Amino acid sequence: MSVTFECGNQDRPLGKLLLHVCCGPCALIPVRELRCEGMDPDGLFYNPNIHGVSEYLKRRETLQETANRLNLPIICLDDEYDPRLFFRAVANREDDRCPHCYRLRLERTFLFAREHGYSCVSTTLLYSKYQNREAILAVGRELQDRTGIRFLGRDFRQGWQEGIDLSKEWGLYRQLYCGCLYSEMDRRRNVLRRLAVQSATSSDTS
Ligand code: SF4
Repeated sequence: MSVTFECGNQDRPLGKLLLHVCCGPCALIPVRELRCEGMDPDGLFYNPNIHGVSEYLKRRETLQETANRLNLPIICLDDEYDPRLFFRAVANREDDRCPHCYRLRLERTFLFAREHGYSCVSTTLLYSKYQNREAILAVGRELQDRTGIRFLGRDFRQGWQEGIDLSKEWGLYRQLYCGCLYSEMDRRRNVLRRLAVQSATSSDTS
């Protein structure tokens, strides 16, 4: 597959852009689209929602590999990786957790942007067909109003399949669940149910 990534404009018409990045595969299309618009994003990896340090490290390593290929400057806030922040943010609202998860990650992104002279923020979460786009936009607008940093609520989903195909071609690690413990449980729900049935059946027959 031939994909051109080198179309950034050093004049930076909208100023410096900070792109919140959830993982390497989800960065491919947003980086390309933003560069084609004439922007030259820097990436920020801040995702305390990711469950398991080994999973965090795996996604981080994949992002680094992706960033090297894309020539994308990337900032990883590893010393701020603290899953307790995520669990506190969603406590007692686990069934409606995603908007709170978006806020946690994007709030830090906007603050980082303000501290480091960026004028715009966007996020690779807007690439995924599985995320709640309206909730992401609502959080982005709220943070824009609060900080004065512009939020670019682009729709990157038209490149969904292209991004999947390219990440496979490049051999990038593609995770099977969104990130948090609850999303992994959702993913494995059928396995747990099957095991529960097996256990019940074997205790009936013993
Ligand atoms: S499912 Fe994804 S977006 Fe929703 S809370 Fe979990 S990690 Fe965050």
